[in-house]
Amino acid sequence: MLDINFIRENADKVQKGAQDKCFDVDIPRLLELDDRRRELIQENEAVRARRNEVASAIPKASNEERPALIAEGRELKDRLQELDETLNAVKEEYDKKLLLIPNVALDEVPIGKTDDDNVELRKYLEPTQFDFEPRDHEELGELLDIIDKKRAIKFAGARSYLLKGAGAMLEMAVMRLAMDLMVEAGFTPVIGPVMVNESAMTGSGFFPYGREDTYHLERDDKWLVGTSEVYLVNVHADEILELSDLPKLYSGYSPCFRREAGSAGADTRGIYRVHQFTKVEQVAIIPADKEKSREVHDMLMGNSERLMQMLELPHRVAAACTGEIGLGQVLKHELETWMPSRNRYSETHSCSSLYDYQARRAGIRYRDEDGTIKYAYTLNNTLAASPRILIPILENYQNEDGSVRIPKALQPYMYGMEVIEVPK
Ligand code: AMP
Repeated sequence: MLDINFIRENADKVQKGAQDKCFDVDIPRLLELDDRRRELIQENEAVRARRNEVASAIPKASNEERPALIAEGRELKDRLQELDETLNAVKEEYDKKLLLIPNVALDEVPIGKTDDDNVELRKYLEPTQFDFEPRDHEELGELLDIIDKKRAIKFAGARSYLLKGAGAMLEMAVMRLAMDLMVEAGFTPVIGPVMVNESAMTGSGFFPYGREDTYHLERDDKWLVGTSEVYLVNVHADEILELSDLPKLYSGYSPCFRREAGSAGADTRGIYRVHQFTKVEQVAIIPADKEKSREVHDMLMGNSERLMQMLELPHRVAAACTGEIGLGQVLKHELETWMPSRNRYSETHSCSSLYDYQARRAGIRYRDEDGTIKYAYTLNNTLAASPRILIPILENYQNEDGSVRIPKALQPYMYGMEVIEVPK
């Protein structure tokens, strides 16, 4: 959420920023509501003060003065009730509109609408070349009997899958390697609730826009998180931390649930886009400092690049364009890994800087050196998300007979298994 004073002072910039991000917002209407809200608050205070004056004057008043004061007191009470109702209605519309105003992207973010407008920054290894006709991961998964979509879909519906045997072990190996890397980098691992209250979804910035994409457990009025970022950001909601408590570096390990409401018909082959996946996520809560935020952004991206280099997977890092960077972000970089069956680099990681956007919504504050209370800055990045990460592993490491070599860094987590062999 943006500061209303910032919006007022930078109305054109905020309107243009929203347009660049492809969000339709009406800044003049928001400012009008803010003016009306302030007027109503002032009037409310004045009427309340006069009512208190009248109430304390009545017992001391003469018999002649008292009836007029009592009548005025009644009028003031009615007026206050009217004002409260109007103020509540204005405030409700204002609060709703304010939540929908996107953060302004940094100047370095390329302007564009889709991921075709993202700009490549660096690359690691070249796309894998094969001297045989490579199989895609769905075919490999079936041949090796490690991915079973058909049976999963029968009892769990579209976009479901089963990982079996070496497939399940491979996912756990990637997650464990990722978590070890996090601990080594000084992050605190956190396994948190994946069923949360609505306020946690709003506080982390996923609601109201993300409601359609989120599973709702109606009977208990809980929401299934699409990422552990939700609980990692909410750990310190409504708290005032000390400067010495920061940075908080957390790494979440959780299942993630997404309705993929806007992706009907897209990526239906294989396990690229599914409703339930597992992720190790990085979240940083830091002091409000733009330079520091940039350093931490690069550190989070560095962790993900390091993991992908350990897995020796060809990938590139791209700067996401304005249309792709979402409501709260000021900057987003994507790590895209080479997926032979798609014949392109595809997103496996996304690293976001949000400045104080999430912290304002969630109420995450800290006491600065001079004692002033400030909103913290937050950042996040994927470290590993499975089953998507299994796609480049299976496809890039395949042999002609369909067996798959295990990346060296994962072998210790696979009881020394070097190859997933085709069953006889
Ligand atoms: P996001 O939190 O949307 O930035 O996504 C982080 C990462 O989670 C993506 O880069 C993917 O690797 C993975 N991911 C997101 N959505 C899905 C999905 N529907 N199915 C599989 N993996 C996903």
